[in-house]
Amino acid sequence: MEHKLDFLSHAILLHGMKGIGKSSLAKDYAKSFICSGQCELLATDCNACKMLASGNNPDLLICKPIFPSNVIKLEQIIDKNNKHLTEIDVHSFSKISPLISKNKVVIILDADLLTKDAAHSLLKLLEEPPVNVKFILTTSRLSKMLDTVISRCVLVECSNVIKKAAGDIQVDSNPFLKNVFSDGSQYKDSFIDEHVILYQSLHDALVEIFNNPKEIVYKAYKLSQCLEDFSKDFEKKASLQKREATLEVLYSFSLWWKRFFPSYRDNLKKIIDVHRFISMNGNIKIHLDALSFYSVSLSFSEAALSNLFQIGFHSSSPSGGDST
Ligand SMILES: [Zn+2]
Repeated sequence: MEHKLDFLSHAILLHGMKGIGKSSLAKDYAKSFICSGQCELLATDCNACKMLASGNNPDLLICKPIFPSNVIKLEQIIDKNNKHLTEIDVHSFSKISPLISKNKVVIILDADLLTKDAAHSLLKLLEEPPVNVKFILTTSRLSKMLDTVISRCVLVECSNVIKKAAGDIQVDSNPFLKNVFSDGSQYKDSFIDEHVILYQSLHDALVEIFNNPKEIVYKAYKLSQCLEDFSKDFEKKASLQKREATLEVLYSFSLWWKRFFPSYRDNLKKIIDVHRFISMNGNIKIHLDALSFYSVSLSFSEAALSNLFQIGFHSSSPSGGDST
């Protein structure tokens, strides 16, 4: 089955505090790219996933700082002088076609510890990605990374999915934030028919995506596509500019998220950030992709899923009971 994932960036950068689970999330992503069948997240039905689970998949390369220097050396990225610091360097690995998997995957752990030379050499690969090679980078120190490397990746912020106190999130004077964070009647008054229809149809689409047991990258792709499709549709229906329509869809998405994942306010914050970036002329596609990865990663936590299942999937408009 063709997942059509290729449109998603070939490089993902997971960033967030140490110990938050970035490496295991990186492995979930790797599995999505590697799977040569249609395995669900925890299943190992195909050969590629089986070998991945046993740690023997030849199409995965994990590159990390080496002891005792604790940096990722140039030779690990490109081994021009055959120093053989590692089994194979990233450049050589990337040149060989996948042996048993759908794609080859390079995971670079603690990518902020790449030496300057190593980072520049990696950048060459990210700029002209070999076919069928996906890169997954992790870092807990985003500010220490080259901007040029960051700009080549879909940024996925990993945050603690533990329930946060409501007070953690600053609600400033932005009316959009106020609406999302309050159950405000102010919002209901301005909720025109088109919005109700938008919310309801978006709800159905989102439930289908989040309820689908498919792997994480597939879901992220679907979510990004869904937000884009709804924006296009709403653009026509409400006679708006593309950017305005996207903002309206994000608004609906935020209300939906608030209703179905009330404990996962980090993502609400993320939606609001993306709303702000896009309203300030940010690249729509890049931000929707990043948001999709983030939302899907969060929703993968068991607690979030069981929450969605418990609530059930009753379609309802935000004015239909969210605040009662
Ligand atoms: Zn598989």
